[in-house]
Amino acid sequence: MRKVLISACLLGKKVRYDGGALAVADQIVERWRSEGRIVSVCPEVEAGMSIPRQPAEIFISNGQSVLKGEADVIEKNGTNVTTDFLAGASIALDLCLKFNITVAVLAEFSPSCGSSAIYDGSFSGKTMPGMGVTAALLRQHGVHVFNQYEIAEANQALLAKRGD
Ligand code: SF4
Repeated sequence: MRKVLISACLLGKKVRYDGGALAVADQIVERWRSEGRIVSVCPEVEAGMSIPRQPAEIFISNGQSVLKGEADVIEKNGTNVTTDFLAGASIALDLCLKFNITVAVLAEFSPSCGSSAIYDGSFSGKTMPGMGVTAALLRQHGVHVFNQYEIAEANQALLAKRGD
């Protein structure tokens, strides 16, 4: 059975930096859940970061640059958490490899999970086009990454690939 990787916060788990969730109410996700297709991950928590934690953003750059060692992920208090974000991305990739996952639905705007847009590093709520670290690493390895506004598209991608 083809599985799909989903950001834990989108599944209602209280793993966000502020201790909250970002639960989506979606029939497709509920069907995936009942079919046993969902693999949940919060890259930041899997990497050992606490709940709650300082908000973090990629400083005027994107996940691809972080992967290349050309940019950093910085907490609002100035702490460099790039290593944690890279570790979380690696854990998410390991799950994809373990379960042969080629479709993911990750939370938009996050410096880990954002796939189309992320916060711009100013901690002012401004976003810019770009990917977070986990989304960038998964795409580098051929995983089709969608956000919570693209669940129907993710389902199409899953249907196109699934063999059951
Ligand atoms: S967006 Fe990603 S890293 Fe952030 S809380 Fe949700 S699952 Fe965790």
